[in-house]
Amino acid sequence: MPVLLNLNELTETPILLEGLLPVPELDWGGPEDLVALSGPLHYRFTVRREGEILLLVGALTVDLDCLCARCLKPFRSRLTLDPWSVQLELSGPEAIPQVGELADLTPCLREDTVLALPQRPLCAPDCSGWPASGRSPTDFSDAQTAGQRTVWSALDKLKF
Ligand SMILES: [Zn+2]
Repeated sequence: MPVLLNLNELTETPILLEGLLPVPELDWGGPEDLVALSGPLHYRFTVRREGEILLLVGALTVDLDCLCARCLKPFRSRLTLDPWSVQLELSGPEAIPQVGELADLTPCLREDTVLALPQRPLCAPDCSGWPASGRSPTDFSDAQTAGQRTVWSALDKLKF
């Protein structure tokens, strides 16, 4: 279910698009690390056409399953891009995918969502990491690539 826009329906009046983009459509192909999508992307935006340019203005929201980058505690978070806006080209080297009169807006929504994902999510702004260690933020890059690794095996890797 990609987000398709019928360019024939786009006249002088902006079109409002609203819906849910399921997680499989948003998969960015990278390894699962500290942030995973826990639900579909909710999008709501207007599309306006100026010549060969589409102007999208609205909001994107998606729920995230995160692991704290400091203490590895799992927590829920919500990514909200509001206001969100983007300009898309209908022709030229940067043109978005089109099949006939249908323009595919999915890659643009995917890209902006992925770019906005937190690189180092924290369960709390003042999370101090492991209570026992008393040390400042630790790099969990090994755990990031392991997929199903548990908190305890990540702890083992810290080699206190
Ligand atoms: Zn934490």
